Amino acid sequence: MLETLHRVSREVNDAPGLPEALRIIVNRVADSMSVDVCSVYLLDPETGDFVLMDTRGLYPEAVGQVRLRPSEGLVGLVAEREEPINLENAPRHSRFRYFPETGEERFGSFLGVPIIHYRHVLGVLVVQQRDQRRFEEDEVAFLVTLAAQLAGAIAHARASGGIDGLDSGSVVEGGRALNGLPGSPGVAVGTAMVSYVHADLDAIPDREPVDVAEEVKAFREAVELVKEKFKELGSQLAGAVSPDEQMLFDVYLRMLEGDSLVRETVERIEAGNWAPGALRQVIAEHVRVFEEMDDPYLRERASDIRDLGRRILSRLREEPRRAREVPENAVLIGKEVSASQLAEVPRERLVGVISATGSRNSHVAILARALGVPAVMGVDDLRTRRLDGRDVIVDGYSGRFYIDPSSTVTQEYLRLMQDEQEFSEELQALRDQPAMTPDGHRMALYANTGLISDINLSLAAGCDGIGLHRTEFPFLIRDRFPGEEEQAALYRKVLEQFKDRPAVLRTLDVGGDKSLAYFPVHEENPFLGWRGIRLTLDHPEIFLTQLRAMLRANVGLNNLQVLLPMVSRLQELEDARRLLARAREELAEDGVDTVMPPLGIMVEVPATVYQIDRYCERADFLSVGTNDLTQYLLAVDRNNSQVAGLYDEMHPSVLRSIQEIALAGRRHKRRVTVCGGMAGDPVGAIFLMGIGVEGLSMSVSSLLRIKWVVRCIPVARASELASRALEMDSPEEVRGLFNAVLDEYKLGSLIRAGK
Ligand code: PEP
Ligand code: MG
Repeated sequence: MLETLHRVSREVNDAPGLPEALRIIVNRVADSMSVDVCSVYLLDPETGDFVLMDTRGLYPEAVGQVRLRPSEGLVGLVAEREEPINLENAPRHSRFRYFPETGEERFGSFLGVPIIHYRHVLGVLVVQQRDQRRFEEDEVAFLVTLAAQLAGAIAHARASGGIDGLDSGSVVEGGRALNGLPGSPGVAVGTAMVSYVHADLDAIPDREPVDVAEEVKAFREAVELVKEKFKELGSQLAGAVSPDEQMLFDVYLRMLEGDSLVRETVERIEAGNWAPGALRQVIAEHVRVFEEMDDPYLRERASDIRDLGRRILSRLREEPRRAREVPENAVLIGKEVSASQLAEVPRERLVGVISATGSRNSHVAILARALGVPAVMGVDDLRTRRLDGRDVIVDGYSGRFYIDPSSTVTQEYLRLMQDEQEFSEELQALRDQPAMTPDGHRMALYANTGLISDINLSLAAGCDGIGLHRTEFPFLIRDRFPGEEEQAALYRKVLEQFKDRPAVLRTLDVGGDKSLAYFPVHEENPFLGWRGIRLTLDHPEIFLTQLRAMLRANVGLNNLQVLLPMVSRLQELEDARRLLARAREELAEDGVDTVMPPLGIMVEVPATVYQIDRYCERADFLSVGTNDLTQYLLAVDRNNSQVAGLYDEMHPSVLRSIQEIALAGRRHKRRVTVCGGMAGDPVGAIFLMGIGVEGLSMSVSSLLRIKWVVRCIPVARASELASRALEMDSPEEVRGLFNAVLDEYKLGSLIRAGK
């Protein structure tokens, strides 16, 4: 049963569109359950009807014709109850509705299961049989499991597959809309550029070849290289392995020398796909043929074919002549866009980001905000294979994007972009104005920097300093740990640029979703694992190098402050202070005279909130990392789009813990700033101002927006709103309150597109 489930689900995932996917489902289910009928009904979001989309066993003419209101028929009942209905004699049921065009009256027994995706009923899968019998428990379980497994694939195929009248997109005039999560504000019109992990054959997108002859040549060369490698391996291992194992090399070689694999790939290239895409298609077809074989030995050959495909792919990649062109207005799209993939696209060409995984607090989204580029995250049904080179629109406010938008939609978005442009010019007027509330309260606004090395720091002109410089990036993009001199030069640049203003450099915070290729750490739960200060204290050689580099960079400038990430024990702060002192001694031995910089901690692990007085006694300042604090307090992975609906830093529990930190800071006269995403969110900023947080640190692209909020809303009003928010039951209620206030002060354009 498990095998059948896997096979059906793989085939459905590989299907080019919704009709093909549904055909596979009805045929496979009818065969494997030996039933007379299998039909799929899908919800038409526009009319709310359930439409018969495909069937095996009912009259084919009924497809597309039979439509049921949700309150009608047994299909409607399954959807209404959101659970299976198993009937021995369906026509006798009071909800049975007879459609003469289906020929359904011939079938007595009925089993219907709902297809549910994220709480929404997408449709109903029905099997029927002539004999009157109740379906067995394991048959029901099989169908329920299959429907649950297929729901995501169906949701995606429907959203992007274009079945007339059943597009789930909300754009009526044309173009398909897919929904994800808002990752970075702004809107953009551009061309999709699919990014993928190079070794992952299944992720390769289809793409038009620039030069067919060149593609064919590159492919043939790759095949030759793989063949040579096999011959070489075969002769090296001759005698050392058994004749059976030796034969495996011969099988591989025969596959490559035989006609079909190479010829079919070349045909697909000539039909208009680039070599990696053509190879992916051909390998998938061959794999499917083998997987369907009854002989277990032959079925196993499917994995050999996959292996072969990967080997050819890796040779193809080495072809520099085939380097891709980055489109003029590139929208980077991927299953899991990483910070380094994003950094590879020239800044002037990148206009948007769309990622199937992740959420607002993933580091890619933070990076997109730092660049001022709109991003949509967590589009979980995103299939990227056929998106490369297509026109797309990214709406980072609503978390929606459009594929092949109609000209009406494009015009509308171009107008919104124009509005945005004008809005940001208006904001520029605030650059040299103080961040002062109408009732005379001065907020300190700091910049978050560091995720990209070449960030235009001049944008941060007029702010009060750097509240968080993430030092990870130089570590992420190199193939080894950067040396002391190298790091010192980078930090010096930052400290110099912000001369006379505080610049908080955070020590290395890798782990979690930031892993170093040259220092792989394999953990089941990386966010609860070896991250931040835990890792650096375990590797004093890495930590001391970084601390010395920071101290060196600070010589003569004296604006450095050092911040420790992921602190969860007082001892970690003590140990770090000891190592900082040692780094100074070592430098003194080399004749470099340094000052002891203020040492602060990130408050981002809930444990620190409950010992906040102890930390205030020992740390020089506190910086609240709301991204992690929210994730750990609410037990919601900041990267997991499946639970992103539960992640909200405006959750009253999070608000209360931040208030505790702010109060402790005041009791102990310690500076408390907030450097997580909440500080750059207009709603979050009002709350933080209201509870008396002294400074907000945010991505450079948010600085002027937040300055505008500060200049509009009196601190007395913010404080009254914060008190109300702290008493509320849910984040939705809190957001409702603050959004209404933003509209009241005509600040609505900060949270949605257009003026
Ligand atoms: C945070 O956790 O809020 C924070 C600012 O740090 P990072 O996003 O880098 O984990
Ligand atoms: Mg953090």
